[in-house]
Amino acid sequence: MELSNLLITFLAQLGVISLTLTICSLIRDRAHSELSVARKAASGILFGGTAALLMQMPGELIEGFRFDLRIVPVAVVGLISGPVGAAVAAGIASAYRIWLGGAGAALGLAGIWMAFAVAISGYYFAKRGFNQAPHVLIFSAMNAGVAFLILFLLPPNVRQQIIEENAHFVLLLLNFLGTMISGLFIRIDSSRRENAKLNALHRQIVSALPDALSVKDLDGRFLIANQATARLMGAKDAAEMVGKSDFDYYTDEEASLFWRQEQAFIENSEAILLEQQFNRDGRTIWLNTIKAPYFDEVGHLKGIVSHTTDVTTRKTLQAELISTQVLLETAMAEMADGLAMFDSESRLVMWNRQYLEFFPYVDEETCQGRTLAELLTAGVLRGQIKIAADLSPLTWVQDEVERSEAAEDSELVLSDGRWVSKTTRALADGGWVTLYSDISEKKAAVAQLERLASKDGLTDLANRRIFDRQFAEIFEICREASNPLSLLMIDVDHFKAYNDTYGHPAGDQVLREVARVLQTACRSELDLVARYGGEEFAVILSRSTADEAHAIAGRLAAGVRMLEIPHVSSSKGRVTVSIGIGSLELSVDDPQQLLSKCDEALYAAKAAGRDKVRAASSAGERTIDKKKSSVKGLSLR
Ligand code: GH3
Ligand code: MG
Ligand code: MG
Repeated sequence: MELSNLLITFLAQLGVISLTLTICSLIRDRAHSELSVARKAASGILFGGTAALLMQMPGELIEGFRFDLRIVPVAVVGLISGPVGAAVAAGIASAYRIWLGGAGAALGLAGIWMAFAVAISGYYFAKRGFNQAPHVLIFSAMNAGVAFLILFLLPPNVRQQIIEENAHFVLLLLNFLGTMISGLFIRIDSSRRENAKLNALHRQIVSALPDALSVKDLDGRFLIANQATARLMGAKDAAEMVGKSDFDYYTDEEASLFWRQEQAFIENSEAILLEQQFNRDGRTIWLNTIKAPYFDEVGHLKGIVSHTTDVTTRKTLQAELISTQVLLETAMAEMADGLAMFDSESRLVMWNRQYLEFFPYVDEETCQGRTLAELLTAGVLRGQIKIAADLSPLTWVQDEVERSEAAEDSELVLSDGRWVSKTTRALADGGWVTLYSDISEKKAAVAQLERLASKDGLTDLANRRIFDRQFAEIFEICREASNPLSLLMIDVDHFKAYNDTYGHPAGDQVLREVARVLQTACRSELDLVARYGGEEFAVILSRSTADEAHAIAGRLAAGVRMLEIPHVSSSKGRVTVSIGIGSLELSVDDPQQLLSKCDEALYAAKAAGRDKVRAASSAGERTIDKKKSSVKGLSLR
């Protein structure tokens, strides 16, 4: 056993195996996907052929015993293309060995198929993640074990000779080394391929990123940039940017500013966020840039990684939003009405100055976040919001909150007498916005209108319209409740003559004075005194019987008489009235009937000489003269 010969044989055989592995690696680089069965079979042919070639160039271990590394390609092909590749390789190697013939053929075949078994187990272990350097060593030991097992199949004399010359260790060692070197090659090659794949993936991600990503060296020159960087900087493509700097793409002023920012960053070499801007085609572009240091393996600062987002659209929107907000705030501050916004939980979130003027008890500092219920309760308890006396504050507040939540309009009365109308609109998020308007003037105008519509302009008594309405209502109420009710019709005597004698304005004054006497003498809460028309008045006496009405009528007539307004054209010498009385006791069916009865009684009073009181009789045609019994000695109430 000559060592130099052995070494030459080993290196030659290893060279052939390495060549095969290299060819295989180059071919695999072209096949990007998983190996197909055909490709696996093809690699089996390559490695089987290699095994055959190795058999063709054996070395002599001891005299008459030749060896080669055929089991190495048969075993390692399993790591690349699994059982298919290993079986094809083992088959080719076996066929070749049979073709070679000779005494050791059976032994050779046994070795080849044991290596095939090693290939299969290596393949499945690798699939389970046993692919690290120590695992390669175990795999190599297993394959070397094949060579060791062969020893036991040798004729005893040959085995004896090999052991005596310690050649079995050499056989073991060479197969171990051959398998290990090949195994490590395959492992390194596959991890290189994995890295290349990952690298390609990273490149794809970086180039597809919408944000600009680039790396510059310490002199500000681009080492790498993605497509978005090229777009942002107006470069033709990303590859063109390598070796260039900001000065090639921005104005000198802009590039100098960026340069200074980068230099400041290099001094601190800590990640920073910069807001940058530059002009492109008369438009300002806003950028948010994160700069991070880029270190080499030994920790030296080598460059700057920049991640840039174009925030121009966001900035423009922000600016628009701010100006809209300013506009809104100005409008809110300038508007005459109060405005308040409540969120879906009924909490105050926005209000204007006028709102606080309506509700001065709302404290500007602390009102934020207060619920409407809290704000209203405070207003009612402090007496600044007035509610009807028969309402409980709690109920009123609850109703008011429900009205707001349902976007219903309502009205409030403040302690200073102001009326506030609330117009509420629902918001999409479940909240609402309420507009508070001072409607005091409108309310006063409406009240005034109502008053005017119900009063007689000359005497300030209720007018005919009100009389007709009230009389019909009171008539029904009293009749249903069987309460007494009386009606007086009062007419000024010889009034035409008064006008003729003293003039119309003096006549008006008389009507005013008569009205005052009637109004003063009646019970304001029960009776209604109205101007029925011309110089006629009507008085509704609720709850007064005919007798009581008679007494009252007497007092009224006396009251007018006692005014002692001279009337030369009257036989009485002063202004007097005649009064007709009607009452429910006459069994009338409707108000009109009672009015007619009253009229008849008045006619009777006139006929009796004027300055008289007459009650309608139940017979309807006659009237009763009670003057003597009722008027004397009575005074005005
Ligand atoms: P009698 O005693 O029968 O009631 O006689 P009289 O003159 O009062 O009755 P007549 O119905 O003939 O006249 C009513 C007068 O009342 C006629 C009209 O000029 C006057 N008169 C009606 N309305 C007004 C008014 O608003 N102001 C004034 N000054 N006079 C009025
Ligand atoms: Mg009249
Ligand atoms: Mg008259």
